[in-house]
Parts: sequence; C-alpha cells; structure tokens
Amino acid sequence: MAATLFTNVSIFDGTGSQPFPGEVKVEGNRITAVARGQGQQLARDGARVIDAQGMTLMPGMIESHSHLCFTSSEDRIEREWMPVPERHQFIATHNAKVLLDHGFTGAYSGGATRPAIEVALRDEIKAGYVPGPRLIASSFERNASGERLEFGPQMEEAKRFAQDMIDLGVDSMKMVLDGRGATVVDKWHIINYGDQELEVISKIAHDAGVWLSCHSYQPEALKLAVKHDFHIIYHANFADEETIDMMEAKKDTLFVGPCIGVLMADAYDRFPTREQAEQIGAFQMMAGQTRVIPELRKRGVRCLPGGDYGFPHNPHGRNARDIELFHTQFGYSPAEAMVAATKWGGELMGMGDELGLIKEGYLADILLIDGNPLANLKLLQEKDKIALIMQDGKVYKDLAERFAEPMRIAAE
Ligand SMILES: [Zn+2]
Repeated sequence: MAATLFTNVSIFDGTGSQPFPGEVKVEGNRITAVARGQGQQLARDGARVIDAQGMTLMPGMIESHSHLCFTSSEDRIEREWMPVPERHQFIATHNAKVLLDHGFTGAYSGGATRPAIEVALRDEIKAGYVPGPRLIASSFERNASGERLEFGPQMEEAKRFAQDMIDLGVDSMKMVLDGRGATVVDKWHIINYGDQELEVISKIAHDAGVWLSCHSYQPEALKLAVKHDFHIIYHANFADEETIDMMEAKKDTLFVGPCIGVLMADAYDRFPTREQAEQIGAFQMMAGQTRVIPELRKRGVRCLPGGDYGFPHNPHGRNARDIELFHTQFGYSPAEAMVAATKWGGELMGMGDELGLIKEGYLADILLIDGNPLANLKLLQEKDKIALIMQDGKVYKDLAERFAEPMRIAAE
C-alpha cells in the first residue's frame, strides 16, 4: 500500500505542546515520520499527498466511558432500554459507528447491559467487518445484589460472575461499588461490596489480565477501589481529602472518569423543570465534581473525558462535549483537555506507547479538523468539521471534496 503524506497541516501532537506546522507520513497502519516546522518536508517517494490547506491534524479522540449498549444516539433516539438481543446487537453496532463518525477512534467501555454484546462487537470491529472505535470491552455492570441477569448475591456469586465474564473474553469488569442507581439520591450511601469480596474479585481479574472499573461516589467505596487497584474509577463525586491523597499516591496507574456529560444533561436537558433535576441530585453531583476534579488535576491524577453517553437526553455522538466541559467546568486548558482525550486515552487503553500521539511509530489514528480546536473546542463536536478520519492507517471518512480525488486514485 502506498504511503500517505499529510502536508500543509498544523499538528496538535497530543503532548499538550502548541500546534506546529509540519508534515506527517503514514505507512501501513503506523505513523513513520513527522516533519516539524515551517518548510520542513518529508520525502515524497511516491506517497499519495493530501494537502490539508492548513487544517489541524491531531490524534483520534478516545472515549473513556462508553456504553455502546445504551440505546440512544443523536440520529436514533430509542426509548427501549433492553431491546431483544437481536435488535440490541444492531443498536450497539450502530452506536459504535456513530462514535467513529464523530472522531472517536478508541473507546474504553464503562459497562455493557448484556454480557456478550461488547465482546462480539469488539472482535467484529477489530476484524474490520463493522466500523467502530478500537474497543476495550466490558462485562455488564454488577451490583452486589446480583440483580443483573442470573447472578445472585454474596461471595460465591461474585466469584462466579468474575470467572464467567473472563471466560467470555472481557477486557474490563465493571463493579457498582456504591449507589444502586446513578441518580437515586437516597441510595448514594449504600456500599455494595466489602473489602474481602473485592480482594477476591481483584485477584481473579488481575490474574487473568482483566482490568476493573467501578461506579462509585462515596469516600468509603472510592478507597476500596483505590486499595484494590481498580484501573478506572467513574464518578468520584464525593471524594474527601484522604481519598484524594490515596488517588494521588496511585496516580501513575489510576485513572478517573468524572462523567461530566451526563451530569450536565441530567441538570439541564433531561427534565422540564429545575426542581425535577434537583430531586435526582443533579446539582449536588455537579457541585461535588467541580470541587473534586480540579483538585485531582492539580495533583496530577489523570482524569478523562467520557460522559455516560447513550441516554435519550445524552445520546452517543455528543461525546466530545466532555472535552469542552473539562475546560469550562474543571479549569483544564483547551490543550490539557485535548491531551486527556488523546494521550491519556491511549494510556487508559494500555497502549500508551503506541496510541494517542502523533509521533513516529504510533498507530495512525488521525483526524483532520477544519479549524483550530484549541481556539474553539466546540469544533470537535461538529461532525462536519472533521474533514478526515483515519483509523489504523485506513481512511474511514473523507468528507471534503478536495480530498476525494487523491483518495480515489490511491484506491485504484
Ligand atoms: Zn456509566
């Protein structure tokens, strides 16, 4: 396959450095050369050349908390939460395409609603049969009550759950450590698991090379997650000082996903009145996040965009809104918020040495943005501003007419 050479681009490389003019060469599925600086040129060597006319070239975005089984996307609002499996698989497959269409070339799952859908979808995407982000597939979310599907309560059942999910081939297991429902105020304080259960589950998961993720709000549950080496903690709204200290001590291995997108949607888009949003605690949750996340940022804990998209009031496709919210709600600079959605996303997926940067040797997951997202993060939310999406070295979307010709020639 001929090499592809992007010329006349402004490169945001994912490290947080200011964008610089240059060129990027892709051969096979890897970036093989980056020229830095005005007038610096790479050898043409018969490569197909894409003159991007000053657009921003950046790494593909990575969603840290996807739920492809959640049924609603921007172009397909589904009121049914658990469609029959035959429909559900198609809906999840559609949602995977929606994410990729919006520039998300990678995604870490925050939990499935059926055990096997994501594992199958991950494999289909990987084999190139259906479009979607590189996917870290999850088990379904488990409460200690075992109220999901056929798994019951207590230690033996928790063990059986872990082993069954591993046998299915999940990459990550999701435990609901506290709060029975994300937005049921009077249940926030209920801790679902004990230290011993988590110790056993953690050992089974880690021995199998499977990550643990959790849904957790309260200090007691958050501390259990940190203690038992959970890979990513979602929500973390009410972390206290001691919990934040513990998180900081594990900042080289721990990730946090505040899920700000769904909070904003719960507060402002879900209900006709503010009182209803107050009843489910949306503003309390938000106040928690705007206290905790800036503190974690200061301490160097990697917090990632990813906002529980997939509800009718917060559909898939809107995912890049989280990046803007990191800036407006948590005080991240635009560059930091974009690092969190690219470089740190690669690290979250365990691929930090080959995914999430525009750098020689890295996988060619590349976007061309028509404009400068650092000056306007909203550009990342506009599908039509993403002029080109390359995933694993292949052009997936080539929106601008100006690129069509070289693409066609290359395909012949
Ligand atoms: Zn979630």
